[in-house]
Amino acid sequence: MSEPSAIRVLSDAVINQIAAGEVVERPASVLKELVENSLDAGASRIEVEVVDGGRRLVRVRDDGAGMDRDNALLSIERHATSKLRELKDLDSIATMGFRGEALAAISAVSQFTLATNRADSAAGTEILVFGGKIQDVRDAGVPPGTEIAVRNLFFNVPARRKFMRTAQTEFTHVRQAFLLEALANTGVAFVLRADDEEVYNLPAARDLLERIRDLYGDEVAAHLRPMQFGNGVVEIGGYAGVPPFSRLDREWQVMFINGRPSGSPVLNFAVQSAYRSVLAGGRFAPLFLQITLPSDLVDVNVHPAKKEVRFRRPTEVRDVVIEAIRMAISGPDLPGSRMPERSREPAAGLSRPAPAPDETGRPAEPPAPSAPPPAPPVAVVQPRLDWAPPSSPAQPGEETAGSPWGRYRLLGRVGEGYVVLETDQGLVLMDPRSAHERVLYERLLAAVEKGAVPSQGLLPPATIQPSSAQGQALRKHLDLLKRMGFGVAEFGSGTFLVDALPVWLAEAAPDRLLSDIADGLMQGGKGTARDWARPAIAAAAGRQAVGLQRELTDAELRALVRDLARTEMPYTSPRGKPTVILFSTRELNRKFGRD
Ligand code: ADP
Ligand code: MG
Repeated sequence: MSEPSAIRVLSDAVINQIAAGEVVERPASVLKELVENSLDAGASRIEVEVVDGGRRLVRVRDDGAGMDRDNALLSIERHATSKLRELKDLDSIATMGFRGEALAAISAVSQFTLATNRADSAAGTEILVFGGKIQDVRDAGVPPGTEIAVRNLFFNVPARRKFMRTAQTEFTHVRQAFLLEALANTGVAFVLRADDEEVYNLPAARDLLERIRDLYGDEVAAHLRPMQFGNGVVEIGGYAGVPPFSRLDREWQVMFINGRPSGSPVLNFAVQSAYRSVLAGGRFAPLFLQITLPSDLVDVNVHPAKKEVRFRRPTEVRDVVIEAIRMAISGPDLPGSRMPERSREPAAGLSRPAPAPDETGRPAEPPAPSAPPPAPPVAVVQPRLDWAPPSSPAQPGEETAGSPWGRYRLLGRVGEGYVVLETDQGLVLMDPRSAHERVLYERLLAAVEKGAVPSQGLLPPATIQPSSAQGQALRKHLDLLKRMGFGVAEFGSGTFLVDALPVWLAEAAPDRLLSDIADGLMQGGKGTARDWARPAIAAAAGRQAVGLQRELTDAELRALVRDLARTEMPYTSPRGKPTVILFSTRELNRKFGRD
């Protein structure tokens, strides 16, 4: 493997800085990537050290397989991965951090040192990288394993550096990321040091419960009951806390999906439902939830850092989780727990079977007389946990990686309407339909926000008679509706006249539309128009894109490529499908064996 030329390194450095925006958010994400690499390398002991919340230093040292010099050099190149051999696993949640992008991205935005050695080689290797440029490669007498130090993250990307928070906040995230890895890999010894103080020193544990005890203490461990339930497809393991032992935040709730720390709004909802009748609102029992299911039932690519997944059969997952928790907390005691003998009887109210879901797909309220008010819809569940934010494309103010390419050339079309482009980043395949959805979506969203949505008159106008609650909501927001392009007026008691619709919704049935919007206003009225209108806008963009797809001329395609490059989130459609697939020149070279 030859060393890359200086020019290569420079242009890659720029690409990597851009890519870093997707991979590296903050010191905690560096920790996660490095620790997961150590685990992949078979480490049995991983030591993490941070200084200044990780802002000045994140160092991870492992006793794993280590790398020889060639591989060490390769490891910091973009798309360099020793794991691509397992291509068939690409879909499986158990593989692939960022397909060989993590080290390249991290070393592009930090002062980076890698020291590594294999047990079978005499001399180890040390590589110094400064903002993506290799400064030095030298022999180093280091023990087998790998040590990577990441200093002054984002020192060369001021726009990102200013997004880092105080050392204390960053350390909270670092600690959380560390906890997750420690819980997901109980057989590995972990140490966390912060500013020269030892925060955790965890010996290899026999099982999850032992690791929980080491991390959270005896009291938490004593209030846990094992979960073991499944339906042959979705299997639940881990531990659930017995009420009323709980706290006011989700600090004690951790979820693993096929062994990886992750989350999903549907899981938060299930956990809430399971505890609803036994815990006061706003309190959270400890919960260490392990879900195992076939990898084709989980989509891990909805969140760039894989902090959140989407299930292909969410109702099924939800029901199994609810049942698993209910069975655990109504079941017999754990051996060694301090609960008195008589509490081994199922507590009243806990042993009821899970109520059947109603036709909306949500579980019915338990028939308790003191049933709290109905749960909010799933989308409103705000997970506090760091790895489970409700992710939707194009959040306001979200930083994006910038244009996917600078220059490009339209080469033609292949397959079912895919567009082939040559760009300064390599070969790009674009799905014009998804690209179009993205462009339309952002345009509509901006127009809605500015109140600049053109209307289309309805002939004849429609009259609608919403429920009185809906009518109230509409009445209160007539102004907002007007800004969004609706012509709505009330005449008579509770009857509304609709004489215009926003152009992007012109084909919709006015009565359904207005009653949906009224419901949205009632639930999310406090949010901006953008929040509750988002799904409707995404759907409208989708409908428009279908109509336009077939007729695109070359000139229109060029306009589309340009428009896409200017969007906030050029890489996915508003429904999360890829808009473009990039094959970098380097990747092509590698594939053709032209190293
Ligand atoms: P990925 O993990 O997706 O392969 P990374 O950029 O995280 O991509 O790492 C690139 C490659 O560097 C890995 O595939 C692996 O071969 C090597 N590597 C990284 N960290 C370590 C480590 N701690 N020990 C051994 N090899 C490592
Ligand atoms: Mg990795």
